Amino acid sequence: MSEEENTEDDDWSNFASAGYGSAYDPWADLVPLEEVEEEEESEYDLELGELVVYSPPPSDDGLDNLVMMGACNHCIARLSGKPFNWEEIEKIGAELRDESINRGAKKDESVEYCPFCEDLFVDIESIAELVSNQLIKFEFSKLQLGAHFAKDQVVTEDDLRTQFGANGSQALKSAFNDALGTKLSSKLNDVTLVKEKPEVMLLIDTLTLEPTIELRSLYLYGRYRKLERGIPQTRWPCRSCKGRDGGCVSCDGTGQQYATSVQDLIGEPLRAAFDARDTAFHGMGREDIDVRCLGRGRPFVVEMKGPKRRYADLEEMAELVNSTSKGRIEISDLRHSRRSEVARIKGTDAEKSYTIRFLIHGEYDAEKVEETINSMEGVTLEQQTPQRVAHRRADKVRHRKVVSIENIITDESEIQMDVRVQSGTYVKELVHGDEGRTVPSIAGLLELDCEVTWLDVNDVHAD
Ligand SMILES: [Zn+2]
Ligand SMILES: [Zn+2]
Repeated sequence: MSEEENTEDDDWSNFASAGYGSAYDPWADLVPLEEVEEEEESEYDLELGELVVYSPPPSDDGLDNLVMMGACNHCIARLSGKPFNWEEIEKIGAELRDESINRGAKKDESVEYCPFCEDLFVDIESIAELVSNQLIKFEFSKLQLGAHFAKDQVVTEDDLRTQFGANGSQALKSAFNDALGTKLSSKLNDVTLVKEKPEVMLLIDTLTLEPTIELRSLYLYGRYRKLERGIPQTRWPCRSCKGRDGGCVSCDGTGQQYATSVQDLIGEPLRAAFDARDTAFHGMGREDIDVRCLGRGRPFVVEMKGPKRRYADLEEMAELVNSTSKGRIEISDLRHSRRSEVARIKGTDAEKSYTIRFLIHGEYDAEKVEETINSMEGVTLEQQTPQRVAHRRADKVRHRKVVSIENIITDESEIQMDVRVQSGTYVKELVHGDEGRTVPSIAGLLELDCEVTWLDVNDVHAD
C-alpha cells in the first residue's frame, strides 16, 4: 500500500540516495569525503627527495614522474594536462609514455598497480564488455552511469592527483564515468548517456566490478470504462489469508479476494507485452466494486515496473487490453506518461456524474418524490463517514456539494436520476441517508427507507 502513497517521491531520488548524486552531477556525493583525521604521509612524499626537482605536467619532468610512479596509460593522459579524447586516451597515454622513456624515464619496478586508479582503467574494456552483454537484452535509449568507489581510494587519488597531476586534471570517478560511457556508447547502438531521467541506471561497484542494473518504470496514461459490476479497481488481497503463503481454500489459492481487477485487466496484458516484473495502478479516484464506470471513463496511470521492453504502438496496446478483457473493461486515450503525473491524477478533485437507481419502501407520491429530489440540487451534504467504510476510514464529518440533479424518472417501483457531485461525495448515502449520518438525504426528507439498486459513474470531469 505504501506503493500508492509514495507518489511524491521520484524513485530516481531513491536510487540517487543509494549511490547516485544529483541530476546535475551524478558523481557528486557518491562517496562522502570525510576529513582525514591525520595528515598521513604517502609513500610518494617520502620518495620525493629522491626525485629530480620538477614542475607538474604538462612539463616533461612532470610527465616523466608519472611514468616513474607507475601510472597507467589512461592516467598518464588524464593527468598530463595535454588535450586528449576518450576514444583514444589509451593510445595518447602510450605515446606520452614512450616519449618519457626516450627521455630516460624508468618505471619504478616495485610498483604493482597504477597508484592513481589501481588499474581500474586497465580493466575498463572488460567491464564495458560484461555490462554491455547484460544491457543489450533490454530495450532502452537513455542510460545513466554511476559508480561506487572505496572512500580510501578516492581520498588517496585526490591527494596524488593534486600533487603530481596537471592543474585541473579530472578526478577519478568522473574520469571513470567518461571512460566507461565512451566504451558503452560504442558497443550499444542508439543509447544516449544522460544525467537525468534515464530509462536504465547502471551502478558499478569498483571493488567487485559488480554492475547493478535498474530498469526504470514505464508509465502509461489512459481512461478506463468498467462495463461490468463486481470488479475492484486494484488487487484486493484475500480476507482470510491476506494473500500470504500462496493463498488458501477460500480464495482458491489465488491470494486474491476477487478473480480479477481493473488493475490486472489493464496491467497484465501490458506487463506481458513490456516484459515487466509487476504493475502499479493509480486511478483518479475509484468506484465501488459494484459500480460501473461509463462515459468517457476514469483517468488512470499504470506503471510497468522493471520493463525489459519499452517500445510499442500504444494503439495496438489499447486494442490488446480491450480484446483480452472480453468486454469487462475498455481503455482509450492511451499515451506515455511519467511519475509526476501520478501525483496529478491522485490530487485532482474532479466532480463526478452518476446515474443512480433506487427503490422506495412504502407508499409514496411520485410528484412529491420528484420535488424532494429536485430540492437536493445545490445543497451541501453533511456526511459522517459511512458505516460501510468506517473500518478503514477515520470517523469524521465532511461537507460535499450536490452540483446538479437531472433526468429524474419515477416509475411504479423504482426511481432513477442523474446526479453530479463534488469529488469525494458518498453518493449512495445521498439516497439512503445511512441512518441519519448523511444530512440531508432523499430517504431522510421523505421519511421513507430508500435502497440503492445500482449506480454507474457517467463521467469523471477531469482534463
Ligand atoms: Zn591508472
Ligand atoms: Zn486466501
